[in-house]
Amino acid sequence: CVKNIFNLSKLLEEVSKLYNQPHIKFKFGKNIFLRGREDYFLMVLQNLIENAIKYSAENEEILIECNIENQNVMLTVTDNGIGIPEQERGKIFERFYRVSTHENNSKGFGLGLSLVKNIVSKMNGQVTVEPNYPKGSKFIIKLPAVNFE
Ligand code: ATP
Ligand code: MG
Repeated sequence: CVKNIFNLSKLLEEVSKLYNQPHIKFKFGKNIFLRGREDYFLMVLQNLIENAIKYSAENEEILIECNIENQNVMLTVTDNGIGIPEQERGKIFERFYRVSTHENNSKGFGLGLSLVKNIVSKMNGQVTVEPNYPKGSKFIIKLPAVNFE
């Protein structure tokens, strides 16, 4: 059944044109497909990339990578920004939660990541966050890859 299947590689190609700046890098394989709504997944990508930009100093490198590993689509958004304290990492996916110790005066409702989590769970996937070394954060999305065989 090909219903609700979209080409993630093509979507990433389009998103890379929206964020066409030298410090925002994209690396992804060809013809990676997902089951779900493309318009919702665009919101996932935009929220993670907008966060990476918002919680980084200007021109700090941001990397969006996507590959297939063991039948799963692995998509990561890595920044070199202000990072997320370990004790906050479990809470940031909750609705309206914002890290209060972040003193970079950013504005927001604390809704983006709860939306990301909801969309990814509906697609039978998981989203997690890890520290990036030496600084920043890495958001990891794992989703079942669509197999045409
Ligand atoms: P909104 O997305 O609703 O405009 P927001 O960005 O504050 O507002 P979320 O995207 O849900 O909300 O993120 C929740 C909190 O997690 C943020 O307020 C911020 O403290 C922290 N956070 C999210 N992404 C990052 C990141 N890449 N680096 C550092 N902190 C982050
Ligand atoms: Mg946000």
